Amino acid sequence: MNLDTIWQDFLNIIRQEAGSRIVETWFKAVVFCQWDSHSKTVYLKVPNTFVKDWIISNYQPLFKLHLGRLLNEQKLNLIFLDDLKTGSTVKVNNSTELMPAYCEKTNNEKKKLNLLKPLNSFKNAINDNYKFDNFVVGPNNSLAYAAANAVTEKPGILYNPLFIYGSSGLGKTHLLHAIGNQIKLNQSKPRILYQTADRFVSEFINAIRFNKVPLFENKYKDLDVLLIDDIQFISNKEQTQESFFHIFNMLYESQKQIIITSDSMPKDIVGLAQRLRTRLDGGLIADVQIPTIETKIAILKKKADYHKEILSDEVAYFIASRVLSSIRELEGFLIRVLAFANLTQEPLSLELAQRVLGNSTKENNLNILVNFDRIATCISQHYNFSLEELRSSKRNKNITLARNAAMYLMKKITNKPLSEIASFWLRKDHSTVVHALNKFEEVKKTNPQIHNEIENLHKIIISQ
Ligand code: ADP
Ligand code: MG
Repeated sequence: MNLDTIWQDFLNIIRQEAGSRIVETWFKAVVFCQWDSHSKTVYLKVPNTFVKDWIISNYQPLFKLHLGRLLNEQKLNLIFLDDLKTGSTVKVNNSTELMPAYCEKTNNEKKKLNLLKPLNSFKNAINDNYKFDNFVVGPNNSLAYAAANAVTEKPGILYNPLFIYGSSGLGKTHLLHAIGNQIKLNQSKPRILYQTADRFVSEFINAIRFNKVPLFENKYKDLDVLLIDDIQFISNKEQTQESFFHIFNMLYESQKQIIITSDSMPKDIVGLAQRLRTRLDGGLIADVQIPTIETKIAILKKKADYHKEILSDEVAYFIASRVLSSIRELEGFLIRVLAFANLTQEPLSLELAQRVLGNSTKENNLNILVNFDRIATCISQHYNFSLEELRSSKRNKNITLARNAAMYLMKKITNKPLSEIASFWLRKDHSTVVHALNKFEEVKKTNPQIHNEIENLHKIIISQ
């Protein structure tokens, strides 16, 4: 068994659930140093007690769940070896004699940073940290929020299924759990299940392996509310889709509520059976978009408040303007700043935030300009037109498409005013951009290939 591969797989899963910022900040410092299959114990080396405590209080269930899955064990013991305190290097061998210097039950002092309690601490896997109360509503998510709220009032009746889609880190999972939590408050003992589609797939595969498909399907058919996260992971898995289709129909016909999230609209999920697509299309579809700067600031303040920290306007603005397209990333930045202030006992000032996150606001504004350039360059390379051609008033079909695509990505990625986008393209006013965005939205809707192309370019640009 290759520990390194398992650890990398584990980090990838955590990256999906908690975001790469969290992984970089906290998990990269941990070494998976030994797995003892007899005592079912995982030994993890951590650089200091701060990291250890933070992980124990925030991520222990996730460690157990995902490492357990990867190691094929239902129950695991975790032992954290605190390097500074032991002052020793941990042996990496097959011996089971390693002294558990600090085990998970170590005195767990009061944590200030209590963010992101992991999922799956309950049987129905609903995370009680994600509520409507702590979800900030802005123009980017108001439809999804209203719809989510509405289904909790009349589950199974109003909008069934409810389908919420949007890019990663924009609050879909949060809304899903918030629905679950609200229904738990409204009803006595509702049968609710939160399940990610990839877990659904792996459960289904196990069910096949052990000849237990009817048992597997029964578990779902008895539910009142089914919350399926990231349905796109069911793509190209025909047999799983068939099973899901049956479960869906059973629930739907008995007016049980189904809520599904995805990274794109049903019609744009590649590798989805037509009949399932039609089902997903049949209810209410609501999107979540990139938040405006005001919403980002409101989110930061709310999260800081949760940690009993007060974030000044200037610090909130600084952090908000550093993040372009993901609330998960925004949260990661905030955690880094709070953790640093906490560790060093320094006040939460703008200067501290700048030190932790790097780049002054001025440089960051520059970054946004660079982003316009970066987007234009990426589009120009992809569609094979020079920047001059794209900026010209030429209107042949392909140039127009590329230019519109670039404007669309500029709006989506930087969320800058249309007038600024217009001036980058040497256009007189923002109405050209409005027109371009509308045109491009239309093309994206009717042409899945272009839709996918642009989503890929988007990912490439923001990861550069
Ligand atoms: P997604 O499922 O769309 O990838 P998540 O629901 O996991 O995104 O959200 C990422 C993080 O951002 C979570 O910690 C979530 O609480 C937070 N978040 C997202 N949207 C909001 C919001 N509108 N208000 C408060 N927190 C939010
Ligand atoms: Mg999610």
